[in-house]
Amino acid sequence: MSFMKCPRCGLSVGLRVQYLTLQRCPRCAAKAGVSVAMTITEQDSTPAGPVPARTGHRKLHEQSTEPQI
Ligand SMILES: [Zn+2]
Repeated sequence: MSFMKCPRCGLSVGLRVQYLTLQRCPRCAAKAGVSVAMTITEQDSTPAGPVPARTGHRKLHEQSTEPQI
């Protein structure tokens, strides 16, 4: 799912359909009265780093003694 983001105010809009792209930021146009071109990104702009490995609950190869038939 693509996202459109305003480089000025940081408005992020998800695009469900590709042809509904916003050429200009509606927030900047409404509040500041300026026309800012939106940029298209493929993912959300939330700073999602790598998944922390310290979950404490799920361990790989924890149960290796499964009953074999
Ligand atoms: Zn904006």
